[in-house]
Amino acid sequence: MSHPSVNLRPNAEGYFGAYGGQHIPPHLKVIMDEIGEAYLAIRQTSAYQDELAELYQHYVGRPSPLFHARRLSEKCGGARIWLKREDLNHTGAHKINHCLGEALLAKHMGKTKVLAETGAGQHGVALATACALVGLPCEIHMGAIDVAKEHPNVTKMKILGADLICVERGTKTLKDAVDSAFEEYLKDPQNFFYAIGSVVGPHPFPMMVADFQSIIGREAREQFPARTGKLPDAVVACVGGGSNAMGIFSGFLDDAGVRLVGVEPSGTGREVGAHAATLSYGKPGTLHGFHSYLLQEMAEGEPDPVYSIASGLDYPAVGPQHAYLKDIGRAEYHAIDDAGCLDAFMTLSRTEGIIPALESAHAVAWAMQEAARLGPEADILVNLSGRGDKDADFVADKLGL
Ligand SMILES: *Cc1c(COP(=O)(O)O)cnc(C)c1O
Repeated sequence: MSHPSVNLRPNAEGYFGAYGGQHIPPHLKVIMDEIGEAYLAIRQTSAYQDELAELYQHYVGRPSPLFHARRLSEKCGGARIWLKREDLNHTGAHKINHCLGEALLAKHMGKTKVLAETGAGQHGVALATACALVGLPCEIHMGAIDVAKEHPNVTKMKILGADLICVERGTKTLKDAVDSAFEEYLKDPQNFFYAIGSVVGPHPFPMMVADFQSIIGREAREQFPARTGKLPDAVVACVGGGSNAMGIFSGFLDDAGVRLVGVEPSGTGREVGAHAATLSYGKPGTLHGFHSYLLQEMAEGEPDPVYSIASGLDYPAVGPQHAYLKDIGRAEYHAIDDAGCLDAFMTLSRTEGIIPALESAHAVAWAMQEAARLGPEADILVNLSGRGDKDADFVADKLGL
């Protein structure tokens, strides 16, 4: 199959094909357009580019290594499996790539406070880190139930100097944290900056976050042929909102022979509330200011409750670029359930001494299955989006270790 060169720049209204856009009230559209214009202007300047490049290299520790997982590959008995080691970044995942970009943009725009919600706390910690570094006040809204559950991340955010708002209303989880953070943002959107945590939300956020994460794909596109003399047969990443997947996919979009594979969580089953496999089971709809695929089986236009063993993947929509890539057939999307995720988590830990994040383990699981199907001359590149320290106690409990 051959693909024409794929254009993943949004049009003037922020659409990738039929998806994306700005489904927000006019006064917010004005603010979003200001952010988009400031971003496009600042992005051209060498001051901004140099600052970001220096931070990626000397603060995050980029480029992240490309590792040949030999024992894992042998165990799967087929293709070679390679890992792009985003787990080795400062703070342990890919999220720092876009949090630094957003914090720098906020600073260059003269914003006085950066705001966000967080579920399990991963986005909150990465953003609090970036804000500490650039010297901007940071306010993180988190549901009371999550605050109780995610103690290490709560402690880290406090140490990093973030203001932690514990949200006591409604379900006291992510959904209410979003509402609470957004209300605070609306009090002064001229001076506040809402830092979205993935390639979601109204334009320009899907474009900006994908740009910040594209460093993963640029590095991998150089590293892979330098090591192997060829391109990978498949590039695989887990998909929650879709930022780490967009990051690595972007390096290989124009390489027609390279399969791009996104892996969603099928959780514990096909019923509503038992999974978060938006592209596998959802259909077009609108949420949080953008048009994309949405899980909406309970009520048309209303997001279904979602679940994944990996809390970073439990989002009922998905970034508009992925909806577009699915529709035009340039990327394929598959699902891995909790059991497959746990198996990959343990197998990677014990064959390579690398404990992956439960999110990333979904991509590893798909690569393990596919490696067995492909021949020994095939290569699969997995984006290992984060490390699993945060999940170690949970998995040990779950498996009775
Ligand atoms: C947050 C997170 C994800 C999911 O986010 P995307 O935007 O889909 O990349 C995946 N892996 C890790 C380690 C995360 O922390």
